Order: sequence, then C-alpha cells, then structure tokens
Amino acid sequence: MFRSLLALFLISSLLSFSVAARAAEEVGGPSAHTVGQWRVYRLTDGAATGKAALFVDTDPNLVQTYLPDGTYPTAIQYFLLRGHGKTILIDTGLGKNLARQLAEAGIKPEAIDAILLTHMHGDHIGGLLTADQAVFPDATIYLSEKEKAYWIDPKMMAKAGPAKKDNFLLAQRALAVYGDRVKTFFPSSFAAGGATLLPTIKAIAAYGHTPGHSMFLLEDGSDKLLFWGDLTHAMAMQMPAPQVAMVYDINPKEAVATRLAVLRHVAAQKLAVAGMHIPDPAIGHLRAAGAGYVFMPEGEK
Ligand SMILES: [Zn+2]
Repeated sequence: MFRSLLALFLISSLLSFSVAARAAEEVGGPSAHTVGQWRVYRLTDGAATGKAALFVDTDPNLVQTYLPDGTYPTAIQYFLLRGHGKTILIDTGLGKNLARQLAEAGIKPEAIDAILLTHMHGDHIGGLLTADQAVFPDATIYLSEKEKAYWIDPKMMAKAGPAKKDNFLLAQRALAVYGDRVKTFFPSSFAAGGATLLPTIKAIAAYGHTPGHSMFLLEDGSDKLLFWGDLTHAMAMQMPAPQVAMVYDINPKEAVATRLAVLRHVAAQKLAVAGMHIPDPAIGHLRAAGAGYVFMPEGEK
C-alpha cells in the first residue's frame, strides 16, 4: 500500500511536462521515416523531464555520473504508419493530442485500420477513448494475450493496490468498448523471427515492464524498424546503465533482463529503433560502448 502510494506520488510529482507538441506539422513533413513502402510519423504528447527518484534502488554514483542535476529528458511518443494501403497507429499516448494531430494531418478517425498496443499503461491507451466512446470506429486493436489477461484480472487489480486502480479501470473500459475488435496475439522472439500480425509487421515479446509488453518489428524488404515501446524510459541513464529499473516496471527484474537482451540484439544487428519515451526525434540506432550503449538519434551519424 505504502509502496504503491509512494510510486503514485513519485510519478505524478517527478515528471513535469512541457506543453510542446510539434508533431502535427511534421505529419507528412520532412521528419517522416521510410521503411520499405511504409512512411512512419512520430506523433507526441510532448517532451517531459523525469527525476532520478523514479529509478529503483539506484547507485547514487550512477545518478551523479549520468544525471548530474538529478533529471533526465523524456517524452511521450506514438507513431502513425502509412503504407500498403493501410493507416496504422502504434500506441495512442495519453489522449491529449492524438485526435488533433490526426485532424491537422487530414486523417479521419475512421481511416485508422489498426492500432497496435505495446501495453496498457495510460500513456499508451489514453487516445483510444473519449468520454468512454471509441475514438476509432473501424480500427482493429492488436494486444498481446498476456497483457489483456493481466488488466482484466481482479486478483491482479487488488494486488496492484489503489494507486493503480484507475489504470485497470481505463484498460477494462477500452477493452469493453472495442469489444470483439480487440484481437489478441502471442508475440515470439527475435530468434524465432517474431509472430506475424499483419504483412510486414511482427510482434516480439518484451515482458517485464508490464506482463505482456510487446514490441513491433516493421520489416519491409531489407528495411527494418523496431518499435520497442517502453523498453527504456530514461535514455540518459538506461543507455550507459541499462541495468537500472524504473518504478513503473511491474516486474523490474524481468524488465532489466529483457532490456539487456534486446539492446544486445539491436546493437549487434544495427537495427533502427523507435521508442515511446525516447526524446525527439524518437528514432535512431545504438552502438555498444563499455558496459552499455550510446544512442545515435536519426539524422546524426
Ligand atoms: Zn509509457
């Protein structure tokens, strides 16, 4: 109880958002990323600043070294994909800016064919509903079976405590409103090549942050881009020190093991990645450096 109230306090007080939301003018603009026939656009709820108290049991020396002022830059990002005759969203943010960004880009809610959800935290599913109604009347929602099972389980809701109750209720409302348009899947691994959800889109398990947290690999011809969801929250810390977990991680130990394995694969394969909490431009590559990694944002070599 105390732990979860403390977590809520930390999360709400240690993350401050700027109101900046520059994605709208970028939809269709020069910052779009191309993957085979797909165009990928970064949408956003804006940049934010997180504080070191959001890390779990972290060595103060690491904080001193990598976050000398005790803060790190972050953001809430989500992505729009257009190609192969489809318009797809990957996550939906808090629900603050998504509808406006789509409207400004001339995209009607009914034009969204599919929404791929990495997991069901509120900063990823908030854009699905407005006043308890479905924002996207024709979209199929793709969600891992394990993720759905967690958020509808009353035992898990009781165990998570009062601070998490609103997130459970939001997830349950979204699942009820979209009903049989929610399609669950079983993600596989890099080694197994991923589980095919749609032509050129595969799901890969990245459990730990949440029980069913999944990544999506866009693979079109020889072009690839991995949407890694919440594999990281604080790039300034978790690139040089990927063993650092966050208070947001439902299973911090599993989240760390997953992060270490995925980062190793991504760097070795020189895979382009897009992250929901990577500050702009939210897309880039990794290079191994010492015990960790360096992130090279797209556009910088
Ligand atoms: Zn998140």
